[in-house]
Amino acid sequence: MTDVWHPFTQLKGFTPRGRVVRASGAWLELDDGHRVLDGISSWWVTLHGHSHPAIVAAIAEQAATFDQVILADFTHAPAATLAQRLAKVLPGDVQHVFYSDDGSTSVEVALKMAIQGHAQLGAPERTRFLAFDGAYHGDTVGAMSVGERGPFTAAFEPMLFDVTHLPYGDADAADAALAEHGHEVAGVILEPMIQGAAGMRFAPAPFLARLRQACDRAGAWLIADEVFTGFGRTGRMWACEHADVVPDLMCVSKGITGGTLALGVTACRDHVYEAFLHDERAKAFLHGHSYTGSPIACAASLASLELFATEGTLDRVSAIETTYQAHLPALAALPRVKNARVLGDVMAFDVQGGPGGYYDPVGRRICDAVFGEGLYVRPLGNTVYLVPPLCTTPDEIAWAMQRLTEATAAECRKE
Ligand SMILES: *Cc1c(COP(=O)(O)O)cnc(C)c1O
Repeated sequence: MTDVWHPFTQLKGFTPRGRVVRASGAWLELDDGHRVLDGISSWWVTLHGHSHPAIVAAIAEQAATFDQVILADFTHAPAATLAQRLAKVLPGDVQHVFYSDDGSTSVEVALKMAIQGHAQLGAPERTRFLAFDGAYHGDTVGAMSVGERGPFTAAFEPMLFDVTHLPYGDADAADAALAEHGHEVAGVILEPMIQGAAGMRFAPAPFLARLRQACDRAGAWLIADEVFTGFGRTGRMWACEHADVVPDLMCVSKGITGGTLALGVTACRDHVYEAFLHDERAKAFLHGHSYTGSPIACAASLASLELFATEGTLDRVSAIETTYQAHLPALAALPRVKNARVLGDVMAFDVQGGPGGYYDPVGRRICDAVFGEGLYVRPLGNTVYLVPPLCTTPDEIAWAMQRLTEATAAECRKE
């Protein structure tokens, strides 16, 4: 029995992989002296490396200056400056920044903005959301509702609202659904380019571009959930850039603070923002969280954004991608490996021959094997993937690819 209730974990018979005592760069250090490479950026959050000195200093300085201030009646430099900096890097005219706590709350905010915003623009009949099979938008109730109905949501089915789920990557199906039901749709929410939790499923850029056009025709708002894909993970600052798409609303979190503190942002374009400007107080967006606009988290985020320029972060991602490509053929040639794929910092492959799905044990066996050699990865069923911190060197990437290739080859020999 442990004292901590671990997330996504059956606690019966559970022992943690280790106890972390320190971390720097891409590496975690355990109390038994072992070091492991954090191959999944600690659930896709760590960006420039663990405990990066520039971010640590920004956090310490802000914490000593002022720690937390209510953002309803006051403003402050960290929140205001971060909103400006984000507006500069976000796609197109996505420039109004609403702060919340994490990815799930950034999604809840987007859904609520879409419903209330349309109603206040004279379209109260727009109450439906379109989403995609395989989607993951978080674990709160609204975010679960727009997510895939599967293992993560099965126990909560009765409390989820009705959503139309379309096949991910199928532009014709999305066109048809929006042509038929578009008038009652408030928003279409998707993970652009890559569905993370579904097992790193890729959808090509033209799908995204056509979805943007279909939303425009239908008057539905496109909500890009870039909680995973944002901040360089796919090789561009935003996944939407691969298709030159400007969403109406955008959700970001995870890497926003470089992976140091929880912070969520829902950013939107002018027409969404303006739907809430009114003489009546009741037409305001009546939503907020205790730690909204946390000065310390915003300071961390500003320091992280600066590192993109000073450390050439996006160039680092392209070096990671090139190294993946060099090692991918050996992995892809293994008999049970299917669909080996790379985009930016993301490398993934599926191992066939088992039951498939989230509970397929094959991924876990491979991850157990490489952990013994110093590589930490966590599977999604029969999908094994790498999403390391963006500071990971090409040598470290090559080493990780070799460990995964060897462990997967050994797994293939068992059959
Ligand atoms: C992780 C994730 C979320 C949820 O973020 P949390 O910070 O865990 O609440 C939402 N959307 C996507 C695409 C994610 O990957």
